[in-house]
Amino acid sequence: MDFTYNENQKMIADMIQKFGNQNITPFVREWDDNQTFPVDVFKKLGELGLMGVLVPTEYGGSGFSYTEYVTAIEQLAILDPSVGLSMAAHNSLCTGHILQFGTEEQKKRWLPKLVTAEWIGAWGLTEHNTGSDAGAMATTAVKNGDNWVINGAKNFITHAISGDIAVVMARTGEKGDSHGMTAFVIEKGTPGFTSGKKEDKLGMRASETAELIFDNCKIPEGNILGSVGDGFVQAMKVLDGGRISIAALGLGIAKGSYQAALQYSKEREQFGKPISHFQAIAFKLADMVTEIEASELLIYNAADKKNKGKQMTLEGAMAKYYSSEVAVKVSTDAVQVLGGYGYTKDFPVERFYRDSKLCTIGEGTSEIQKLVIAKQILK
Ligand SMILES: Cc1cc2nc3c(=O)[nH]c(=O)nc-3n(C[C@H](O)[C@H](O)[C@H](O)COP(=O)(O)OP(=O)(O)OC[C@H]3O[C@@H](n4cnc5c(N)ncnc54)[C@H](O)[C@@H]3O)c2cc1C
Repeated sequence: MDFTYNENQKMIADMIQKFGNQNITPFVREWDDNQTFPVDVFKKLGELGLMGVLVPTEYGGSGFSYTEYVTAIEQLAILDPSVGLSMAAHNSLCTGHILQFGTEEQKKRWLPKLVTAEWIGAWGLTEHNTGSDAGAMATTAVKNGDNWVINGAKNFITHAISGDIAVVMARTGEKGDSHGMTAFVIEKGTPGFTSGKKEDKLGMRASETAELIFDNCKIPEGNILGSVGDGFVQAMKVLDGGRISIAALGLGIAKGSYQAALQYSKEREQFGKPISHFQAIAFKLADMVTEIEASELLIYNAADKKNKGKQMTLEGAMAKYYSSEVAVKVSTDAVQVLGGYGYTKDFPVERFYRDSKLCTIGEGTSEIQKLVIAKQILK
């Protein structure tokens, strides 16, 4: 397998770099301090084709593969992981769910608006009492004539406030039945559909996370994705691909942290020499670069399988688990390399350190990834 950037990847990396220098990097600190989700920047990224990376051109998307998708998230994460997380949630979850399971009519109706980020997408699986055990969800959808009436709430939802459209999983059958849940598309402005509390987070502060609330929210039958009862199984398939995106997010965070630590270690002098000359520091850098390369190999292997339409539950979980843990370790070590300065907001490593933790939690915790891996190898 050849992992050097292809022409598309080079073009994407270059475009993000140029766009980011002007539109992202100067504002990262402010967004992080104020928990500002930069809606305008998100929409501009849509104009650049980054909000429909995997969507075929016939629906207005960029029509790229997971290989290019990984590069886009990784490069955005180097600049600002929050923007990378939001981009991943919009592309993989909301847009990805409609792309994978929508009818032709549904795809034509919603995808063109999502790929340009004219509409921002959200995806609701998690609830206050059901995260890892999402199948035990309490939000219900009950059939009433031609409509379904949804009641309940979703928690920790990316773009719950700024989103214009959400794919939401709700219970339509018995608890404990994996075929007892259904996926609904709900547009902003639908009566009974509101957002709630915005979370004040440790990291990823520029990516909006809040509640979605459903109070007798009436949804037409035509807004169901796939068949009644398929929602949970669909969600698990969406997460298979989504895991690649969180792994790419971790990779970008690790690369950003490493680059900052490498540069600083060559410039900072103590005891009359650059700190990179101390083996304790050089070995940290050696560990970082090795673990980053290993993450990259796992991610592109999972992406390659996904591109070829092969089963990749195992590879996706391995990539997500390993890259997330590497992001936490590398960013922690980067703070250490920068010493006291690493602990300040004058350098990006403290933000990478805070942002990295999300990777081991979102779209399935590290523990859940290990459960998935174990299930795959023991079946
Ligand atoms: C910033 C952010 C954005 C998010 N965006 C979205 C979104 O857009 N849409 C969405 O639906 N969700 C979203 N989530 C939710 C996320 O997917 C959940 O937080 C995650 O799945 C974990 O669920 P939980 O927080 O309820 O933790 P819990 O499931 O309560 O887990 C708590 C701890 O117990 C461990 N644990 C649980 N079960 C087991 C087990 N069987 N074996 C071993 N250990 C176990 C977990 O690993 C964890 O360490 C987001 C979360 C965050 C923080």
